[in-house]
Amino acid sequence: MQTAHEEPDSQLSKRNVDLIVQHAKELVTAKGHTQQPAMGAEMEDVGLLEDGAVAIAEGKIIAVSKSNEILSKYAAPQILDASGKIVTPGLIDAHTHFVFAGSRESELELKIKGAGYLEILQRGGGILKTVRDTRAATKDQLLRICRQRATNLLVHGTTTIEAKSGYGLSRADEVKSLEVINQLNDEGPLTLLPTFLGAHAIPPEFEGKVHDYVDLLCEDWLPQIQQRHLAYFCDVFCEKGVFEIEESRKILLTGKRFGLLPRIHADELYPLGGAELAAEVKAVSADHLLYASNSGLEQMKRAGVIATLLPAAPLTLMLEKYADAWRFISQKIPVALGSDLSPSCWLENEQLVIALACYKLKMTPAQAVIAATINAAHSIRRANEIGSLEVGKKADMVVFDAEDYRFLGYRLGVNMVDTVVKNGRVLVSDGRLT
Ligand code: ZN
Repeated sequence: MQTAHEEPDSQLSKRNVDLIVQHAKELVTAKGHTQQPAMGAEMEDVGLLEDGAVAIAEGKIIAVSKSNEILSKYAAPQILDASGKIVTPGLIDAHTHFVFAGSRESELELKIKGAGYLEILQRGGGILKTVRDTRAATKDQLLRICRQRATNLLVHGTTTIEAKSGYGLSRADEVKSLEVINQLNDEGPLTLLPTFLGAHAIPPEFEGKVHDYVDLLCEDWLPQIQQRHLAYFCDVFCEKGVFEIEESRKILLTGKRFGLLPRIHADELYPLGGAELAAEVKAVSADHLLYASNSGLEQMKRAGVIATLLPAAPLTLMLEKYADAWRFISQKIPVALGSDLSPSCWLENEQLVIALACYKLKMTPAQAVIAATINAAHSIRRANEIGSLEVGKKADMVVFDAEDYRFLGYRLGVNMVDTVVKNGRVLVSDGRLT
């Protein structure tokens, strides 16, 4: 990436800004969907501008237009030339289990031998292994682990994430996890939206006593989380044999009473009615949805629930079945994407999520890019400030070393990021942290 410095005398009539990104071969704006997420045929339009440019001042987007128009009106001390490259809004990951210690590489062999998610869980592995590791980690150790994880995400073009707790499963350890998310968000540069997922699994000390656990979570933990403003969303792993519909409803409605917006792991492994529950509690987002029923989809549509699809989840669980994205898109239910980053699905590169959405969910590259930008912003209720390259939004953007935006769906397994701009600051240049 070349940085040019213009001659000051020829710039007198121009407005000074901080940064100009110019000559993008394709500028993907994802514009026009700040009020309502893109749905149906709208998801096919990425708002492409050829030879596009963006003027940035004080961290915000001041103007978006053709390069000649921007360069005739604006001057800046820092100019990024994106010739031959694509520029997109910063990628947004709408579903991550961000805070965890340890790893579970040994489960890969179990999965290969055919052990399922719930089977590994019942053997004391899976989530419960990560719960032991996360409880054993101090807050400082977790901060160090997660700070590196945040850097990995940024270097791959993700500028904002939804970040869940859910590997503490005790009040102190859930609070510790949420404090880590809040502290990293305060530190920046990655933006993290905290989600309380105390109902991720039934902790070992509550085995066979799910009602007692749900009561404790609702009556003791949620009030304290609200009082300390530790979370923005409340999520539930709504699944057969874990938290079923009745328990999930109670947690989500209690969370809502305490000001936490509901989101839900719905119908991932079994058709339990999670999509219907998402509509009933007016969840912001229902996630996974492999087994969502037709009536669940109709109710989601009426209630305005976003479908956040996670194509890396069935891949890493070695399932044959994937969510049918076209069911949602054809019914004009907005689709967003997330990585499902977790110790079971350790994926920090959202470019691969976009590619998996194309190869496994049969979404077009345009639909997948919209789902990972403006629709993902809606999934985390931040579409008024991020998700598209439009005047007034935060200057979060990525320059990818590709000539056509469809490379994001097409090319696998390399990091195509050239430059990452976050709040108007260049954080990654030539693919490396500045
Ligand atoms: Zn999840």
